Parts: sequence; C-alpha cells; structure tokens
Amino acid sequence: MQQCTATKKNGDRCAAPAQGSSELCWAHNPLNRTKRVKTASRGGRGKAAKRIQPLWDEIRTVIAGVESERLTPPQGNTMIRGFHALILLARLEIEKAELEIAERRLDLDVEERTELRHRLEELEEEIDARSTMNGHRRLGA
Ligand SMILES: [Zn+2]
Repeated sequence: MQQCTATKKNGDRCAAPAQGSSELCWAHNPLNRTKRVKTASRGGRGKAAKRIQPLWDEIRTVIAGVESERLTPPQGNTMIRGFHALILLARLEIEKAELEIAERRLDLDVEERTELRHRLEELEEEIDARSTMNGHRRLGA
C-alpha cells in the first residue's frame, strides 16, 4: 500500500497508509475533517457525562433514604459528600475531555491553514504560468 504523502507537525513524513485513490491517509485527507472533529467530541465528553448520571441517581436514593428514615441525617450527609466528590472528579474528566477536543480542533485548523496555503501557492503558480503564456503570446503576435 502507498504511504501517505503528508508531513506531520514535527516535520516527519506521515507513516500511515494512503487510502483508496488518495495520496493521503484518512487523518490527513481534508475530506474527513468534519468527521474527525465529530469523532473527537463524541469520545471523552460523552463517556464522562454518562458516569455522572448514575451518581445523581445515587444522591436521590440517599435523599429518599433520609426522608424515609432508612438513613440518619449524618449517614445521608456522609454519603452525599462522597458522591459529591465523585461528581467533582467526573466533571474534571469532562473538562479534560473538552480541552482535548479544543486541542484537536486547533490541530485541525493548523492542518486546514497549511492545506489552504498550499492551494494558494498552486493557484499563484498557475496564474504566473498563465500570465507568462499570455505575455509570450502577446510578444509573438
Ligand atoms: Zn497521513
């Protein structure tokens, strides 16, 4: 299989295999850009958020326990403090996941800018080539 022709941020040639008829791997193909952002945001944030929901349910059970006098208020307080700490940890994980998503978005923006600069250079070369051709034609006429 052909190797991806893109260059990584550190200047090394990308080692991933090129996909299909493209000269680029999946990650470097600009066509996959939106898909990559979506995949990144689905990852960590969703998982951490799912962990918080059961904790809220536990807290509700504790409150119901105190109300029904199955638990004493001090027992209820201790348990809620514990769940509260777990929720704080899960929220930290969500924040971390969001930072990672933001970082990945920045990486993608850098890739996109590089890609746009390449296209601009190609266009400039083409314009140069055309104006040179026109110049010759004018001279020749
Ligand atoms: Zn690549």
